[in-house]
Amino acid sequence: MTEKTMRPSTYAIIEPEEASKLIYENVAQVGVEEISLLEGNGRILAEDIYAIGDMPPFDTTAVDGYALLWEDGIETRLIIGERTAGKVSDVTVVAGTAVRIMTGAPLPSGANSVIMVEDTSEDNKKLIVRKLPQASDNIRPTGQDLQAGQLVLKAGITLNAAELGLIATVNRPRFQAVRRPRIAIISTGDEIVEPGEVAAYGQIYDSNRFSLVAAVRNAGAEAVSLGIAPDTREGLKNLVERALAEYDGLVTSGGVSVGKLDLVKDLLEEMGTIHFGRVNLKPGKPLTFVTVEVDGKRKPVFGLPGFPVSSLVSFELFVRPALLKMGGFAELSRPVLQVRTEHVIKHSPERNEFVRAIVTSHYDPETSNYWYSARTTGAQTSSRLLSMLGANALLKLVPGSNEIAEGSIVSAILIEQI
Ligand code: AMP
Ligand code: MG
Repeated sequence: MTEKTMRPSTYAIIEPEEASKLIYENVAQVGVEEISLLEGNGRILAEDIYAIGDMPPFDTTAVDGYALLWEDGIETRLIIGERTAGKVSDVTVVAGTAVRIMTGAPLPSGANSVIMVEDTSEDNKKLIVRKLPQASDNIRPTGQDLQAGQLVLKAGITLNAAELGLIATVNRPRFQAVRRPRIAIISTGDEIVEPGEVAAYGQIYDSNRFSLVAAVRNAGAEAVSLGIAPDTREGLKNLVERALAEYDGLVTSGGVSVGKLDLVKDLLEEMGTIHFGRVNLKPGKPLTFVTVEVDGKRKPVFGLPGFPVSSLVSFELFVRPALLKMGGFAELSRPVLQVRTEHVIKHSPERNEFVRAIVTSHYDPETSNYWYSARTTGAQTSSRLLSMLGANALLKLVPGSNEIAEGSIVSAILIEQI
């Protein structure tokens, strides 16, 4: 890399769809690892899970009550024993008898019905039945919920409360899951200082790294903050090399524009393949995507722009889906809704503008349908992080005009639940 001067960028400006495609084609799932049940929440299952036995493994009762023979009708029965869950006494129900039984205890042999305690009373070892029992009442037969050999969960699903309960049910304390991508995050810039330190005149506090650590974690990946690189070739190179040696990918912010000290693109060009260096996007035009071969592995580097909103919006649109793919998630895209604008919105006539907005749902009693409206979060300058605050959507405003009329229908990418 030679001494740099300011010059217009020579990178072609590509469309957002093309950028997404290039990223999709050049990132891959990071691999699998064995994890334990308590580590499973939110992870992606990497093997098919089968039931090794039946569930329930024995005939059992769904209620607290008495195991009996339904054919005895409403006759009073002699109580000959008791079964509680987990403690199994040896007892057989015959005509005229009953066994006290608690939910989850195995059904004693001979019994063919369970009457719930609410329909009975006891009088000196005698059971008084107040409701005519029917065959099989309240019995959960062996294998009612799961049968031995049954496919319970397919590889590729996201593990949540129900899925983890099922894996435990089939006695799999450890299982294969997709490894979480480990992503390094670096801020760049001589003016950027660590919060908590004293910012001299001309300096500002690093905000991008903390936003990006949170955003990376929200995309199911592990985030490792590697600090702030100065605007020198050596300083930057050291941190980037360390990141690529130790982690699955790298997200940088700043230094990708056309300023004299915007060194990130030049350095990455030397180290790997630049797939694109500019996108027809506002905010986020200088977004850069690179892959670097390290020890036979191809690692992605996302060079995000420095302005906080540019960095977060380009992360949302391009890096998040990449990290989801690396982490094995099947669904990479956010839901998109058609929404009605609540006011006039000025926008770029040349670039695809992604406007931070608040989408609200409305119920229309006449049609019994919901419809959605959107208003922006105020001034949309790319430095104003407050424009992300409260936003649950990005409105995609395509080039062509510079203004969207009130009441227009536009696409809203939902970045939060509405
Ligand atoms: P750059 O692309 O490096 O020229 O940065 C563009 C703008 O974003 C400049 O005003 C930077 O000071 C600002 N900026 C860059 N990095 C960060 C950061 N980590 N946190 C907050 N602002 C930043
Ligand atoms: Mg900079």
